[in-house]
Parts: sequence; structure tokens; C-alpha cells
Amino acid sequence: MTELLVVGAGPAGISAALWARWFGLEVRVVDAGASPGGQLHRVHFHPRTLAGIPVGDGPAIAAVMARQLADAGVAVRGECTAQRLEPGARPAVILEGGERLACQAVLIATGVRRRRLGVPGEDALEGRGVSFSATRDRAQLAGRRVLVVGGGDAAYENALILAGAGCRVVLAVRDAPRARAEFRARVARTPAIEVRRGVRVTAILGTDAVTGVRLAGPEGVADVAVEGVVVKVGVVPNTEWCRDAVACDDAGHVRAGEHGRTSAPRVWAAGDVTGPALPSVAVAMGQAAAAVADARRALRED
Ligand SMILES: Cc1cc2nc3c(=O)[nH]c(=O)nc-3n(C[C@H](O)[C@H](O)[C@H](O)COP(=O)(O)OP(=O)(O)OC[C@H]3O[C@@H](n4cnc5c(N)ncnc54)[C@H](O)[C@@H]3O)c2cc1C
Repeated sequence: MTELLVVGAGPAGISAALWARWFGLEVRVVDAGASPGGQLHRVHFHPRTLAGIPVGDGPAIAAVMARQLADAGVAVRGECTAQRLEPGARPAVILEGGERLACQAVLIATGVRRRRLGVPGEDALEGRGVSFSATRDRAQLAGRRVLVVGGGDAAYENALILAGAGCRVVLAVRDAPRARAEFRARVARTPAIEVRRGVRVTAILGTDAVTGVRLAGPEGVADVAVEGVVVKVGVVPNTEWCRDAVACDDAGHVRAGEHGRTSAPRVWAAGDVTGPALPSVAVAMGQAAAAVADARRALRED
């Protein structure tokens, strides 16, 4: 029987699988995506915070990690989405389609996904002016009038990237800005960026391409002409499948205690899914290593 079932093959799940192999545990990994790497597939630049990895963008780093898994003899079952977690002394994960994977311990490493606006036009115009990354779509958006939505670091940083690409940027911030002071100061010094506070995007307009946005704010509802929209409104934890089985916080992150222990016996969690103070590759990998070491201790005590 599988000793450790790792759900999610982002940096946390990959680190967990490598450590599990090192400890001699019988490990299985499932992931909803086609290949391991998780959010690294959306990092379109070289992350300068990864010790020991001096070159490569996210997908290149994900490919290196996938090779490491293969070299360690860990097979990842891709395109397998966990739908439910059955807690217990012998927990099990039910996949979409109904297959039941029984095991002795589960590591939840399902990370987070982008939050979407959920307004008319967002889905239909994705890739035709609606973007989720100014870094990736910089060339297409260069020189245009673009609305960036969001009040965190990512939104402010994307506004600065676009201003640097010759765009005129409207930065729509719904609540109080959460971006760090350094980004706010740089935005305030950039004439190409206009910050609109207290406004909400209620629709993205256009038929074949983005032509504008509808904004609702203190002064009422108004349509603003733009040729691009970059959405940077945070993330949502991928925990719908396990929320009935383990305690989660109000935002849906798994509550993980010491060594990643959750409220359910034999279930650990690691990485962004736990809502760490610094969501990052290093933290995800470290949390996963600690969780696997703890799971191994628990299993060996059986
Ligand atoms: C644009 C961008 C830039 C970033 N820049 C940096 C940086 O410079 N430095 C840094 O350290 N970090 C950076 N990060 C953050 C870093 O990528 C994350 O912290 C890290 O990927 C978290 O790893 P994780 O394994 O916890 O989760 P994820 O990477 O989110 O992986 C979760 C995995 O679980 C799978 N999954 C989800 N739901 C299910 C399900 N129900 N069943 C099965 N599988 C499921 C997903 O397919 C995914 O593969 C960046 C992230 C983004 C998006």
C-alpha cells in the first residue's frame, strides 16, 4: 500500500516526493496538471530568489525538477484531480471519475490558483486584451492604454512594468492598497500611471478585442476606454476537495501546525496551500521536507 500520497506536484509536492524517496517511503504523486511544477509554469522570468538555480525561467526550472523526480524513480500521475479526502487511520483520496487511492498518509500540496474577477468579458476576451501577466504579455500590450486591476504588490509591479513598456496605465484599486511602500512610491513618481482608488471593475467591454472597462466607484458607473486589462487580484487556495476533511482558515487555506500537521490524523499540508507569510518556492520546499520527516516518524511508530 502507498505509504505517502502527495496531492499536488508543485515545488512543495516535488520536494516532498524527493524526501519521501530518500527516507525510503513508498510514495505516489498525483497532480491535476499535465506536468510537475505548479505555479512555476506561470513564472515568465528568472526568479532571483532561488538559491543554487542561477538561470532559467519557471518552466525551465519545472523541467529540471521533473527530471529529478524521474531520476529518483518517482512517477507523477498527471491530469488526476483530487475531488475528496477521506480522513481516518487509513486516509484515502478520491479522484475525479471516482477512483479511490488508499494510503497510510496524505500530504496536501495543492497550492493556489489565480483569483479571477468573474465579470462579463473576462473569459471571452482572455488572450485578446485580457491578460494575467504583464511580464508574459508585455510585447502585445506595449504602447497601449491598459487597466491594471488590484491593490497588492503584483498589481503595482505590473503597472510599473507596463509604464516601462510605453503604456498609459490606469491602476484600479478597490480597497486600501496592500502593495509595499516601495512600489507605491515608485507608482506615485510615474506620470504614466493614474491610480483610481475605491473603484471596482464590473465588466470588460469589447467584441473581438478589449475596447474598454466599466468601472463602479464613489462617483458612479463609467466606461473607460482601454485596449488591455491586466488582472492581478490575488489567489485562491485549491482546497475545495479537502475542506470537509481538514480545518481551514476563512480564506480556505489549510490550517497547518507544527511540521505541517493538519486537524486530521495522518494528513499533512505544505506550501502555498497553507497560506504562508511568504509564499515562495523555498518556503514550500522547506515545509514539505519537514512534513515528510514528521509523517515518516509517525508511520514508523505504527
Ligand atoms: C508569477 C509568479 C511569480 C513568482 N515568483 C516567485 C519568485 O520569484 N520566487 C519564489 O520563490 N516564488 C515565486 N512565486 C511563487 C511560487 O511559484 C509558489 O510559492 C510555489 O509554486 C508554491 O508551490 P506549491 O507546491 O505550494 O504550490 P503550487 O505551485 O501552486 O502547486 C500546486 C500543484 O497542485 C496541483 N493541484 C491543484 N489542485 C489539485 C487537485 N485538486 N488535485 C490534484 N492536484 C492539484 C496543481 O496542478 C499544482 O501543480 C511566483 C509565483 C507566480 C505565479
